[in-house]
Amino acid sequence: MSPRKIRQALAALVLLVVCASAQTASAPQKSVDQRVDELLSKMTLEEKIGQLNQINQGMPTGTVVNGNPVTLNVEQAVTEGRIGSMLNVTGAADTNRLQKIAIEKSRLHIPLLFGFDVIHGYRTVFPIPLAIASSWDPESAKLSAQVAAREATAAGIRWTFAPMVDIARDPRWGRIAEGAGEDPFLGAAIARAYVQGFQGELNSPDHMAACAKHYVAYGAAEAGRDYNSVDLSERRLRETYLPPFEAAEDAGVATFMSSFNTIDGIPASANPFTLRKVLKGEWGFKGFVVSDWNSVGELIPHGVAADGADAARLALNAGVDMDMCSGDYIRYVAGLVKAGTIPESVVDDAARRILRVKFELGLFDHPYTDEKREANDTLTSTNMEAARDIAEKSIVLLKNDKDTLPLSKSVRSIAVIGPLADSQIDMLGNWIGKGEAKDAVTILEGIKAEAPEAKLIVSKGVGVLDPSEEGIAEAVNAARQADVAVLVLGEKGEMTGEAASRAKLGLPGKQEKLLRAVMATGKPLVLVLMNGRPLTLEWEARHVPAIVEAWFPGVQGGNAVARILFGDVNPSAKLPVTFPRSIGQIPLYYNALSTGRPFTDPKAKYESRYLDSPNTPEFPFGYGLSYTKFAYSNLQLSTARLGNTGVIKVTAEVENTGNRAGDEIVQFYTRDLVASVSRPVKELKGFQRVSLRPGEKKTVEFTINRKQVAFWNADMKYAAEPGKFEVWVGPSSMEGLEGSFVLVE
Ligand code: BGC
Repeated sequence: MSPRKIRQALAALVLLVVCASAQTASAPQKSVDQRVDELLSKMTLEEKIGQLNQINQGMPTGTVVNGNPVTLNVEQAVTEGRIGSMLNVTGAADTNRLQKIAIEKSRLHIPLLFGFDVIHGYRTVFPIPLAIASSWDPESAKLSAQVAAREATAAGIRWTFAPMVDIARDPRWGRIAEGAGEDPFLGAAIARAYVQGFQGELNSPDHMAACAKHYVAYGAAEAGRDYNSVDLSERRLRETYLPPFEAAEDAGVATFMSSFNTIDGIPASANPFTLRKVLKGEWGFKGFVVSDWNSVGELIPHGVAADGADAARLALNAGVDMDMCSGDYIRYVAGLVKAGTIPESVVDDAARRILRVKFELGLFDHPYTDEKREANDTLTSTNMEAARDIAEKSIVLLKNDKDTLPLSKSVRSIAVIGPLADSQIDMLGNWIGKGEAKDAVTILEGIKAEAPEAKLIVSKGVGVLDPSEEGIAEAVNAARQADVAVLVLGEKGEMTGEAASRAKLGLPGKQEKLLRAVMATGKPLVLVLMNGRPLTLEWEARHVPAIVEAWFPGVQGGNAVARILFGDVNPSAKLPVTFPRSIGQIPLYYNALSTGRPFTDPKAKYESRYLDSPNTPEFPFGYGLSYTKFAYSNLQLSTARLGNTGVIKVTAEVENTGNRAGDEIVQFYTRDLVASVSRPVKELKGFQRVSLRPGEKKTVEFTINRKQVAFWNADMKYAAEPGKFEVWVGPSSMEGLEGSFVLVE
């Protein structure tokens, strides 16, 4: 039994005891399920279908008068009970106004549920999710979600379309920025934390329902092109793509979103296997599934539905409970039920799930938001501090030759160069909620605050995408006049996220040319990267002495970056995703299977390798440097044999051998050497962030039991198989102390 299922069972037991003792006193409080059932029994078929309908503000009705599309009369539709949820309505005044119509004018007074993409902050924008995952700190993910929930709920929004828990191994896919990277174990830990942060107790007014998206395998889009087809084995689906979703479910996530892609030819928004069998069957999910934006309507271009009615039938029968914006449920479901192609029980089940979440959120008892909260809870200094702290934990030091960093605060002059050095909007990245560029601290501003005495010579050099090279000469001049050059290069915020796939992954536009020209001055140089995906940095990694991966670090990003550049903060983050050397290596991820011809000898031809590139990445999963050094020693396993019920304690000592305090993210990997199916060459099974003072040594402990080494075997059963396992404890997926144990029958 999972911890959540145990909690549910205990809660049921407590309820039973309370009810039993209450019988003699006053009447017991009705449970959520009783209240849902009571309400459902009063609802007409049309009212139930209304709950399944989510609309966007200003949505066209599909009717055209005199060439003009007619938009929906929302007030009327809410009054008639034809809308269950709205998205993109923001602000307490607006949400309360519409809610009042639902509560006071609709027949059954059912509250609306307002949803919004609160992805990495609402008004206080945090680093992008891929950055937060680089902290390997679930508490940071949780805190960012708590703050976001407090701000969003003040505006009346009680449902976020987050977290995105899609595993992504293809940096061409722009949405890699929105998730936690390539690894299912790290992804699951971060998914759990976001759900806890957003939802808290769910019915408290400053928490909101979360949504695990995009279910499922959306990150495996062929060639990294958004919305593209996916074809993968059930084993890979279960082992790689499902675990973060299962973790979210286990943490009690209220909703799921079905994705745009097909899997083996079946669109995920009409997929009874993933939705009914796995999610609602095997995992026992009791919340509801919303489609992605018009993904019900898209069943037509996918070529599995002939028209809107067909699409509604396929999606609802497959288990998509709420239709986001296609309008096909509200248009066709009543007719389909009457024709017998959708059982009424399917509509009842979907409506029950949606109403249950509304009750759990406390919306029936407290439908409105307190309008004073919006001013009081938004963009507070505490929220800003959290944004800075999390950004500091998310920035990865990729290279630091000859201790180029940290910079001295008494440096006399700094050339601050590049199109992103002073761009407020780009600090925020994509999906910025109600974030505003004017709130963002840029890297130039951060440097000014950190080194107020230094002369700053600022030059944009080139644009991110602009083909002009005109400004390069000025930038070179700036570098020549300064003691050190800081170049801030990368992608624009809008170049990642949805519909932002790239076929080339180098620095866009003329930025590499600018970098090479400034490098040629021979001045000490620091490259700060802002981007939402792994880039290919073959030249940069070889020639630039210091590289800082800042991602899109959010509203306080400029301060966070500057505090790292000047050593107030010692960088500690590690990559949650592999950086390939070139596009030709993609997909490249650390936990791949071994081939029959593993690469061992650069002179051998018939091994799994490229003629024109090493197999290894530019920067591996789990990698990241610090201004201090950590030494690993003394790997110990409490026993070399693991039985059915036992646990092995795996310990290692980690020592800070440098002269600065720092955090190290210690990683624990295993490999199953012989099994009924080929197993990954390494799998992350644990990690810990450890703070160490200079000279301090700590013992880090991980545990491993039989369940943790189980996998989907040749018979597609989830089981562990006896045999030898290797283990590693180390600073990245490519290094570490090595040991082994044997799993016995
Ligand atoms: C995206 C979702 C998002 C939804 C609502 C879709 O286009 O794929 O991630 O939650 O829009 O804005």
